Amino acid sequence: EQLFVNASLSSYPVYIGEGIRSRTGELLLSEAKGADKVFVITDSAVGPLYLEDVVQSFPDHVEIFTFTVESGEASKSFAEYERILTAMLESGLDRKSVVTALGGGVVGDLAGFAAATYMRGIPFVQMPTTLLAHDSSVGGKTGINHPLGKNMIGAFHQPSAVIYDVEMLQTLPDKEWRSGFAEMMKHAYIKDASFLEWLQRHITTIEDVKTSAVSMLKRSIQVKADVVALDERETGVRAHLNFGHTLGHAVENTAGYGKWAHGEAVAAGMLFAMQLSNEEGLSAWDTKKEKEWLLSLGYPLVMTELSADSLLRAMKKDKKTSAGVFTFVLVTEPGETITKQIPDETVHRLLESFIERGR
Ligand code: NAD
Ligand code: ZN
Repeated sequence: EQLFVNASLSSYPVYIGEGIRSRTGELLLSEAKGADKVFVITDSAVGPLYLEDVVQSFPDHVEIFTFTVESGEASKSFAEYERILTAMLESGLDRKSVVTALGGGVVGDLAGFAAATYMRGIPFVQMPTTLLAHDSSVGGKTGINHPLGKNMIGAFHQPSAVIYDVEMLQTLPDKEWRSGFAEMMKHAYIKDASFLEWLQRHITTIEDVKTSAVSMLKRSIQVKADVVALDERETGVRAHLNFGHTLGHAVENTAGYGKWAHGEAVAAGMLFAMQLSNEEGLSAWDTKKEKEWLLSLGYPLVMTELSADSLLRAMKKDKKTSAGVFTFVLVTEPGETITKQIPDETVHRLLESFIERGR
C-alpha cells in the first residue's frame, strides 16, 4: 500500500502495511540511494518492542546507530536535542546519512528537527508508531518545546519517506488510540464531509477505531497531504488544521503534560469551537449529539480542575494568537472552514459554561 504526498518542494511516498518494519532497509534505501549511515532515534517505550526488527532489516554495508530518548513530551527539549546532535557528530554522519524517527509524534518532531538542522539539513525518514503520528509524520513540521511555549522552536523539513507499519499500533494503550483518532475526526470535520458521515455512523467505540484503523489512516493522511500541498509553509489554509487546537493546547499546557493526551485535549477543543461558531451564528451544530459521540469514544471532557482564567491566559501565550484577539478556526458545516477573530469576553464567557457543562 502506498500513498504519495506532494509538497511544493518535494514529493515522498507513504508506505502503509502490516509488518513492513522488517522491510525498512529496502524501503529506505530505495528513497535514499547511497546512504551508508542510518541514525535511528526512538523512545524508551518503543525501542524495546521494535528497534531490533528495524536494525535487522538493513544490509551489512549500512552502518546503523541508535539513540533512545525517554518516552514522553519532556524529551522535545533543548537538552535532548543537543545530546542527539552530539551523538550524530560523534557518529560521523554526513549529508548522505539518513535520520530515522521510530516512534510517535514526540520522536518524529525531535528527530526531524535534528535532521533539519544537522549540517543545514540531511535526509529524514518517519516511522510512525502511534495513530496520532499519521498526522505529525506528514507535512514536514518539526520542532521542540521551549520552556515558554510548546513547539516554539522548529523548522520545516519534509521526510524522504514515511514507513508506517500498522502492526506496531497493536501495543498502543487505549488513551493513545483515542488521541490519534481525534486528529482523524479533525481531518474529517475540516475537509471531508462524507468521511465524517462515515465515521459518525461506524466508529462509536475505541474497538471500532482499532478495527478500521488502516482504511481510516489512508483517508486521513490524504486530507492532511492535500492541505499541506496547497500551503506547505502555513501562510493560509494550512492553519485550518489547527481546528480544536487553540483550546486544546491550552488544556494540555494548563493541566500539565501527560494528563491529557494531545488528541484528547483537541477533541475538547473541537467541541468548544463548534459551540463558539454556533454562538457566533455561523453554524448549527447539534453540539449535544457531537458531545455524545465523543463521550461514547471515552474522551474526557471534564476540565473542572482548570479555570476559564488560566485557560485564557494559556491561549494568549500560544503563538497562534495576536494582539489580544483570538483567531479561532471554525467549521461552519462539515468540510467548510473559516478563521474568525473572537473577542476575549466571548471566549471567557463560553469557557465558563463549557467547563460547567463538562461536569
Ligand atoms: P508520543 O510520541 O509521546 O507517543 C505517545 C505515547 O505512546 C508515548 O508514551 C510513547 O512512548 C508511546 N508509544 C508510541 N508508540 C507506541 C507503540 N507502538 N506501542 C506502545 N507505546 C507506544 O505522542 P504522540 O501522540 O504520538 O505525538 C504527540 C506529539 O506530536 C506532540 O509533541 C505534538 O506536538 C506532536 N505533533 C506534531 C505534529 C506535526 O505536524 N509535526 C502534528 C501533531 C502533533
Ligand atoms: Zn494536533
